Amino acid sequence: MESPPFKVEKSFLVQRFAKLNFGSFHLIGYSVAGEETVVQVPEWNVCFDFGRAPHFALTSDIVCLSHGHMDHVAGVGYFLSQRFFQGMKPATVLLPRELERSVDMLLMSWRQVERQTTPYTLVPMAANQMYEVRRDFGIRAVQTHHGGPSLGYVLISIREKLKPELVGKTGPELVELKKSGVDIQYRIEVPMVAFLGDTTDGTVFEHPDVVNAEVLVTECTFFEPDHKSKAKHGRHLHVDQFARILPGLKNKHIVVTHVSRRTGVRRAQRILRKFVGSAEMDRIHFLMDFEGAADGGDMEDAGPPPADAV
Ligand SMILES: [Zn+2]
Repeated sequence: MESPPFKVEKSFLVQRFAKLNFGSFHLIGYSVAGEETVVQVPEWNVCFDFGRAPHFALTSDIVCLSHGHMDHVAGVGYFLSQRFFQGMKPATVLLPRELERSVDMLLMSWRQVERQTTPYTLVPMAANQMYEVRRDFGIRAVQTHHGGPSLGYVLISIREKLKPELVGKTGPELVELKKSGVDIQYRIEVPMVAFLGDTTDGTVFEHPDVVNAEVLVTECTFFEPDHKSKAKHGRHLHVDQFARILPGLKNKHIVVTHVSRRTGVRRAQRILRKFVGSAEMDRIHFLMDFEGAADGGDMEDAGPPPADAV
């Protein structure tokens, strides 16, 4: 057999996805500003944003769309069509209520283009509205601060506990109390994962579910001193703002997404470390920091110049 004329080291055509392990759940995803954002939590059957509908995302029955910019919504038609094609059940799409009509028109157009009755369910959401997936699991929308209608979403574990004053009563006693109409349990909500999509600084970083979520997934797009005006113009976070926000956050883990290719993940990490110190960096993970992540400048040579982040 003839040997190939040259050895292929690696193909830049193969897109690599990140996988972060948080014990009872994972995040799988890809997020680069202006290019694509999609973050999945497989154990909760939820995906945040569609990106360009990468293959792994198709398994999520629920998708929470943060806003209408193309790098977050592009894959919606492909996502729904592929699931239908593969015999999966219709997906449920939570989205800012202001986008419901236009996304519905888009999907109806796709049905005509494809001549296929792709099913879907759109759930229009408003800030602080809770979508109850199950008795023990809900998704709450939170107001974010970006261009146009935008929402973040928090996965909430809902637990019911016996009221403290009733601890020690026997089973039959509790049954009697319940029969007589006494509410014997109280509800606690535990925010597990908060995903903010794109946002600049604002009240979202004071929302209790965002502050207390075990894992917070937030953007921080710009890191260079001369990118402050880009951050302001696009309503994105600059590292200056992010460093000011961080002390108020109680999250066990913070995952940074949507870093501009103009900076690159490794350089962004170094800059953030200078702002916040090494101890704070222990809980901060950059989604795209996996083996082979390029320093700023490397990737720009491999493709067209980066669009300013949307
Ligand atoms: Zn955006």
